[in-house]
Amino acid sequence: MPPFPPGTVWLVGAGPGDPGLVTLQAAWALGQADAIYFDALVNAEVLRLARGDCEKVFVGKRAGCPSPKQSEINAALIAAARRGQRVARLKGGDPYVFGRGAEEAQGLVAAGVPFRVSPGVTAGIGGLAAAGIPVTHRDVNQSVTLITAHDASGGLSSKLDWEALSKGAPVLVVYMGFRLMSVIAARLLAAGRPESEPAAVVANATTDRQQVVRTTLGRLAAGEDVEGISPPAIIVVGGVVALAPVLGLAAAAAVQDAPTLAEALGG
Ligand code: SAH
Repeated sequence: MPPFPPGTVWLVGAGPGDPGLVTLQAAWALGQADAIYFDALVNAEVLRLARGDCEKVFVGKRAGCPSPKQSEINAALIAAARRGQRVARLKGGDPYVFGRGAEEAQGLVAAGVPFRVSPGVTAGIGGLAAAGIPVTHRDVNQSVTLITAHDASGGLSSKLDWEALSKGAPVLVVYMGFRLMSVIAARLLAAGRPESEPAAVVANATTDRQQVVRTTLGRLAAGEDVEGISPPAIIVVGGVVALAPVLGLAAAAAVQDAPTLAEALGG
C-alpha cells in the first residue's frame, strides 16, 4: 500500500453504501488515519475500519442544520494536516464524481498540503449494477452520460443542454436528481425522447434498504411510481434499464425463461 505519512490528506471514496465495496486501499487508509472527516452519505459501518483512537469528524448536512461551507471543510483539512495528523477525507462513492473532491484537492494544492486520491465505486455505476442495470451493453449504448441535475443554488442546472442530451446521450445517469425527477423527465420528453423509454430510480443502492423502481420516462414526468421511495437515489434513463429483470434476477438464481435482450427491449 502507498505510504500515508503524517501531515498528509487522503481523499477516500467509501463506495455507495455496502461496506464490502470499500476498496482494500481505502480500508488500509482508514486503519492508518489519525482523523477521518466524513460525509452524510458514508455508511457508519465503514467507520468501523478506523482505529479506536481515531478522531471522527462529521462534516455533512444534518437534518435541519446547514452543512459546513466548503471553505470551512477545506480549512479544517489543512489545519489537521498541519497539526501532523494523517487525515482521511471520506466521501460517499468516488471523491471525484459530483463529490466536490476536486475542490478540496485544489484547496490542498493551494495550501501546499500533500494529498492522494483513493477512488471509490460510484453510485451511478456500481449502485445501478447492484440493481441489475449495467451502464453499458454493446447492443444498447456506446456511451454513458453522468449528470447532476443541480447547480450550486439547488435549482435545475441551467448549464445542461437538454436537446443535445436527448439526441446524443443514449443512457443518462442522474445524480442528485430525486427532487427534480419529474422536471428532468419532462425536459427530456420535450427534447424528443419517447414517453415509453425505460427509466429506473434506484434508492439506497447496495444497502439493505435498496429500492428499485422500473418505469418509463412518461410516467416519471407525471410523478408516477415513486411514492414511498426516499433518497439518496440515482435516476437512469435508457435501454439498459430493460435488462434489469434479466440481470437483477440472474444474480439470485438462474432464470429459466428469462427474456432475451431483444425481447426485453421490446424488439
Ligand atoms: N461521490 C458520490 C456522489 C455524490 S452526489 C458518488 O460517486 O457516488 C450525491 C448523490 O449520489 C445522491 O444525491 C444520489 O444521487 C447519489 N447516491 C449516492 N449514494 C447513493 C446510493 N447508495 N444509492 C443511490 N444513489 C446514491
